[in-house]
Amino acid sequence: MPGENDSNVSKTASAGLDYLFSDIQYLKGVGPRKGEILKQNGISTVFDLFYYVPRKYLDRSLITPLGSVAEGMTVTVLGTVAAFGLVRGRKPRFETVIEYDREQLELVWFSGYKYMDKAFNIGDVICASGTVRAYGRLYLPHPEFEIVGSADDETIHTGRLIPIYPESAALKNIGLYSRGLRRIIKPALDRLADEPCETIPEKWRKEYGLYDLSRAIRQIHFPDSLPEADSGRQRLAFEELFYLELIMAGRQKNRRRKADGISINPPKTLGRKLLDNLGFELTSAQKRVINEIYNDMKARYQMNRLLQGDVGSGKTIVAVLAMLGAIESGYQAVIMAPTEILAEQHYLSISRLLEPLGIKVVFLSGSVKGAGRKAILESILSGEASVVAGTHALIQKGVDFKKLGFAVIDEQHRFGVAQRGNLQAKGKNPDILVMSATPIPRTLAMTIYGDLDVSIIDEMPPGRTPVLTKHVPEDKRKQMYEFTRQSVKDGKSAYLIYPLVEETEKSDLKAATEEYQKLKEEIFPDLRLGLIHGRMKGEEKQAVMASFRNREIDILAATTVIEVGVDVPSAAIMIIEHAERFGLSQLHQLRGRVGRSGLKSYCFLMTGKKVGEEASRRIEALTEISDGFKIAEADLDIRGPGEILGTRQHGLPELRVASLTDSKIVSLARSLAFEMIDEDPGLDSADNRFIKTVLKRRMRNKIRYSKIG
Ligand code: ADP
Ligand code: MG
Repeated sequence: MPGENDSNVSKTASAGLDYLFSDIQYLKGVGPRKGEILKQNGISTVFDLFYYVPRKYLDRSLITPLGSVAEGMTVTVLGTVAAFGLVRGRKPRFETVIEYDREQLELVWFSGYKYMDKAFNIGDVICASGTVRAYGRLYLPHPEFEIVGSADDETIHTGRLIPIYPESAALKNIGLYSRGLRRIIKPALDRLADEPCETIPEKWRKEYGLYDLSRAIRQIHFPDSLPEADSGRQRLAFEELFYLELIMAGRQKNRRRKADGISINPPKTLGRKLLDNLGFELTSAQKRVINEIYNDMKARYQMNRLLQGDVGSGKTIVAVLAMLGAIESGYQAVIMAPTEILAEQHYLSISRLLEPLGIKVVFLSGSVKGAGRKAILESILSGEASVVAGTHALIQKGVDFKKLGFAVIDEQHRFGVAQRGNLQAKGKNPDILVMSATPIPRTLAMTIYGDLDVSIIDEMPPGRTPVLTKHVPEDKRKQMYEFTRQSVKDGKSAYLIYPLVEETEKSDLKAATEEYQKLKEEIFPDLRLGLIHGRMKGEEKQAVMASFRNREIDILAATTVIEVGVDVPSAAIMIIEHAERFGLSQLHQLRGRVGRSGLKSYCFLMTGKKVGEEASRRIEALTEISDGFKIAEADLDIRGPGEILGTRQHGLPELRVASLTDSKIVSLARSLAFEMIDEDPGLDSADNRFIKTVLKRRMRNKIRYSKIG
């Protein structure tokens, strides 16, 4: 009987859990001193130690023995550092001699060797790759290298696969580097035989082919083969995600069960009126998501929903329609945006839509001061203002609503979880809609954004043609300017974007300002130019944006302050300088500022002389792809998952093994977790009780992995 099986598992499992989550310092070979340092580095328990997994494995069969290298060969070699030092003279260089099996090879650096003498120690085993040269004797110039362990590490001499752990100076200093680590992992692992311990139900392990815990750990740290190591990793990844999703599922269940939210009906007369005056028909994707939102708002629980849609897909009108529901039910609505410009723009477009319906919309940001501010705060408190648009100034003290029922957070990835919470606290469990134009796959979104429900607008308003995107060579610059001039004469507006990586960098700003002057005086003396950057005051920025919107400025030179959300229909040309310095999704966001009406639009990418390989791939991707979801995928490909998802800022526990982009495992873990919570919310059944125990232990065992390395 399967049930019987499971409770057997659960009995033995909970016995072993005490060991799994026991203090690292009591482990053989650790003790209080090393224990302390391990803890400081995020390894507090045996569990953490097991989860401290190799970064990669070096396959011995791909290593060329030192005795077989020859001039011109591109090789990966392995050897113990026997000597190193700076050799002065006509051609100063840093030399390192490595040896293995009584053969030697020199690694040589002719430049950039300033810190080389700190890079490794005598006795370290390093693995180096490069192309062999000869100068009297053979040497490897400027090799890529990596420390893989120490000379007396048996794994290095015997195993086919050499695990390479994350670089950590702190652990290395106490001898816990590769070999030292494995030396404590080995007995810890062996003890699992006496303290059997499992954290995943057996029926799932069988059904989904997941290794048991002990086998997984063994294959990760002492692999028999790469596929086995990978299977070990899959098991840990699944486990990690399953317990994470379990928390999400629990939160969602709670929120729904509590039914302490407000029930807001879809708007009737106001909604009709707005749609009648709109001048366009909602896309079917917009209609679908607005219904999802209405259903959710109507329910007695608090809505917590993410609205994803590519730039220009029309999220604003969806948010406004939802606001109308709140207003008709007697509540206030608020929309918070990450920048002043964007908040102001929301204010303008929402007022334009709602004032004709007799609805009062106000604006609040840090630059609204004095008597004006006081009046606005009063109108929010009295309820006279039905809609408030603003920046994070909205979540400050002193901003009090009469009856806040619905809160929208735009471009939510720019805000932290805490800020979302603060806005929410301005009402009594108001319904929340967060909007994002950084589209990511659904499972990923659901996990990253915690217990949020997800709605996706996957369709653009009709009549949009993709923005024609071109990488323009420097010698075509003149033609590009000419084309821009002609387009302006045809009634279009243009953006010119400068990359200011850090807007506080004076030199960057100076460069941009000088560039702008030159453009204004020498290239486009006949056109009206404007400049906007992050260092300008709120009112200044607003004034410039207003002139641009009113077509008093033809070409707006801007830094990335305009990156998100800005909507100026006449803008149809965008020139991006030093496009190689921007990330892919940032470029896509920028490009989303043009092509927002029926006008044929262009995006010209200019690059400096030196463009790295990754940057070239980004630029190529941008010229070929216009769909934001595909852009996000390309970005994942180019940068790798780890880089993209700063999971921390979303308030997720750090994942140590799993990758959120492994959608297969994420989906499986998620559906199993949600199913489990749905059937047994308290995890109280005999079968699930051990899961609850593991969950509690895991939650108590919170660590910060980012410290390592
Ligand atoms: P985003 O999703 O990037 O926030 P917006 O809500 O700013 O996009 O919408 C972009 C532009 O498209 C706006 O000018 C808006 O008025 C227009 N728009 C929105 N929905 C439609 C539609 N269904 N048909 C035509 N135009 C639309
Ligand atoms: Mg928007």
